[in-house]
Amino acid sequence: MFTIAIDGPSGSGKTTCSILTAQRLGCSYLDTGAMYRAVAVGCLEAGIDHDDQAGIVELCRDIDIDISTNPNERYIRLGDQDITQAIRTPAVSAWVSAVSTIAEARAILVDRQRAILASGSFVAEGRDITTVVAPDAEVRVLLIADPDVRMARRGAELSGQLTAAALRDQILRRDRDDSTLVNFTVAANGVVTIDSTLLTVEEVVDQIIILAQRAGIEV
Ligand code: C5P
Repeated sequence: MFTIAIDGPSGSGKTTCSILTAQRLGCSYLDTGAMYRAVAVGCLEAGIDHDDQAGIVELCRDIDIDISTNPNERYIRLGDQDITQAIRTPAVSAWVSAVSTIAEARAILVDRQRAILASGSFVAEGRDITTVVAPDAEVRVLLIADPDVRMARRGAELSGQLTAAALRDQILRRDRDDSTLVNFTVAANGVVTIDSTLLTVEEVVDQIIILAQRAGIEV
């Protein structure tokens, strides 16, 4: 069993590179950000206020999240409701920091994430994966990219759904808010930084695979 942990800011390529790496290695994939987003969907549906920390924590404790760990079939459910698309809306992206900036909410989700990672071999991504969730992972990578490149990538993904100002908010404001409790801009000891600004997705994945080989993971 192994864990390859990948963190970094929005638009650095974490998701695409993590999924491709998991597919190449034939292992499982965990998107921890999707779990924070699922809680945000639950809060929005329950009409919980942005500032109601106790309400958010309580929902976090009781929430029934079923997340796929198959990199070839991504889905996430809240109870029996499929929220795979709902977690990606701009409204949820704008709300999610209200969840992730509460230490108690993080502790609950981190416990769940560790339990999932203990069940097999994973490529796992998320802001605190190399430092808090899986500091003992066999491979730990901080994926970074120039802010302009990150905004351009996210803008292309959302294919013009957002104005330039809303896009800036989604990327830069969210990263700033998120970094109040988690440091994902500086590599911790033993974490390898990969700057994807000038690299293709395949080149990033190749570098991660080389790190996996060096860590003794069979590729
Ligand atoms: O990676 P993604 O953009 O889907 O993450 C959504 C949000 O979830 C982030 O903006 C951050 O607030 C939160 N998050 C986190 N820790 C993680 C993963 C995501 O705080 N490990």
